[in-house]
Amino acid sequence: MSAPTWAEPLLRLFYPARCLFCQKPVTGKGETVCPLCRTGGLPFTPTGARFAVPGGVCVAPFYYVEPVRELMHRYKFRGRYKLAEPMAAYMADAAEGLPGFDLVSWVPVSAKRLRQRGYDQAQLLARALAGRLWTPLVPTLRKTRDAPPQTGFNTPEARRTNVSGAFAALPKAVADKRILLVDDILTTGATLGACVECLYQAGARSVVCAAFARAGDFGSKTNEDSAVRRGK
Ligand SMILES: [Zn+2]
Repeated sequence: MSAPTWAEPLLRLFYPARCLFCQKPVTGKGETVCPLCRTGGLPFTPTGARFAVPGGVCVAPFYYVEPVRELMHRYKFRGRYKLAEPMAAYMADAAEGLPGFDLVSWVPVSAKRLRQRGYDQAQLLARALAGRLWTPLVPTLRKTRDAPPQTGFNTPEARRTNVSGAFAALPKAVADKRILLVDDILTTGATLGACVECLYQAGARSVVCAAFARAGDFGSKTNEDSAVRRGK
């Protein structure tokens, strides 16, 4: 699917690499972010931030505001699945300092959504992250019913109800394992929380979560959340 190595310089000539965030052309070899974005206030969460999800914590390198919101839109809805690789680089940085884990897994989309989109955005992030962390990528969950998207529900309670019973763990993959669970966006944590609970019920030893972006302001802030204000 990807171009051979020799074709890379040629492709670059006609299709210059674009900044992950603002999409302006970047010239440096292997660069994914333009100098302006690199130095100009991307919406990073503070180093070491841990966001609360029911039953655990989640790391996320960015807040879900522009230009991250637009990047996620390109990634999820416009077929730009190759963005998973540079996005996962930021997630790997955010995952530094987490306790060790035996495997990386992800919050799966439903079979119907997978057919529509052609790829599972959390799985691709998890795969790229697993590669960077030298940790196996293992499926641990399946979606048992096609719950409507969480974006249609505005309260933590409604979101919890919407995903309640929507996931089932694969016990053989999970028993006694320390799991790093990946999703694309952390909002209320209802989805990740439902998955964390499933994994513990199936015998996981520990579960920590990683997302690319932290969205919303639904309360339940951790101490680390407030450290954001100090850090900025
Ligand atoms: Zn840029």
